[in-house]
Amino acid sequence: MRTDELQARTKGPRLRLRVTAAAESVLRSGHPWLFADSIREQNRTGQAGELAVIYDHRDRFLATGLFDPDSPIRVRLLHMGKPRAIDHNWWAERLTWALDAREGLFDEHTNGFRWINGESDGWPGLVLDHYDRTLVLKLYTAVWLPRLEEITGLITLRLRPERLVLRLSRNIQKVAQRQFGKADGEILLGPPLNGPVTFLETGLRFEADVLRGQKTGFFLDQRENRRQVEALARGRDVLNAFSFSGGFSLYATRGGARSVTDLDLSAHALAGAKRNVALNASNASVTSCGHEFVQADAFEWLNHQQGRRFDLVILDPPSLAKREIERPGAIRAYGRLALSGIEHLRPGGILVACSCSAHVTAEEFFEAVRKSVVSAGRTFRELRTTGHAPDHPATFKEAEYLKAIYLNV
Ligand code: SAH
Repeated sequence: MRTDELQARTKGPRLRLRVTAAAESVLRSGHPWLFADSIREQNRTGQAGELAVIYDHRDRFLATGLFDPDSPIRVRLLHMGKPRAIDHNWWAERLTWALDAREGLFDEHTNGFRWINGESDGWPGLVLDHYDRTLVLKLYTAVWLPRLEEITGLITLRLRPERLVLRLSRNIQKVAQRQFGKADGEILLGPPLNGPVTFLETGLRFEADVLRGQKTGFFLDQRENRRQVEALARGRDVLNAFSFSGGFSLYATRGGARSVTDLDLSAHALAGAKRNVALNASNASVTSCGHEFVQADAFEWLNHQQGRRFDLVILDPPSLAKREIERPGAIRAYGRLALSGIEHLRPGGILVACSCSAHVTAEEFFEAVRKSVVSAGRTFRELRTTGHAPDHPATFKEAEYLKAIYLNV
């Protein structure tokens, strides 16, 4: 259903909210979330996905957003400033805006990247990823479900994919099935799919398990760091801890690494890594590089394999702080992990430590890693720190999750 029809069908007056003075100033500063406990007044109950209009303390229009009665993030903002109709044209413009922002970022050697990165691209809780001819639309909030048809119509019109896959975060799978008949991994358009799709990243071929894999099937957010690793790998023995499907490793082998070790807890991830090596068998430096696959808990392995030494150690663990309360513990855990990594580095080796915890700030993470090196009695030269890739913009604090630090130890 189109936004205008959807709105016409909604019973009762427009959903109107008044918010606390504190929330008003947060929204004015550009933050895209209104929390439930910041609402002072609401004229009626609202449904998921309804447009809500927020008024300021002088009763003037402040913003429009998508209402979600079941989430503590009660409204996800779409628009601030002068009042404007949120209609079909508005969505079309918004899509153009996100697509234009990727103009010129990728050449023919990269056909796996992100078109829409949620709030930071003006599409709160919605992600659109591109894998060759397949697009993956991932929803993290139920507010999109009532307008799924309209949004997928716009996307297919503009991008003409061969296939469009729907992915749903766990918290909305039930409501999607019950109220909208939509399932995680459903093909919304195009031919059926039984396994992963393959795509190119910087000329390397990878699999993405778009139907069931984490995120949309691949960690597209690490592409820029993988490129850096390729440039640093020549002649080195590389440890890729938390390797997933071996993304960093393939770049390292192409960059001339002497050997690469993939370390991951998941047999499934390592099997994917092996297939990714096979997919790049035509590349001589990939095939000539020694490649070891270790299935183990990386924290334990690093502590127990005292004798193993490498010249480049990559640490890219899953988020160590899923909630704010876990932040201090996570900072300490990042420090300990970095210390274990350093113990496996030969003199002159390079540590690449990454964090994907939004609750830990970049500075907290970098400091924890630097302190670990100092506490190990080693000196270091900081090569660089990195943040978000241009196709994964982050425009507010909660969206800034990815950071990496490169140290020559
Ligand atoms: N670096 C990867 C992404 C890593 S995602 C890339 O560039 O694609 C995190 C990975 O850590 C997942 O593959 C997960 O299976 C693995 N993992 C989670 N806990 C682990 C543990 N305790 N030991 C080893 N691997 C673990």
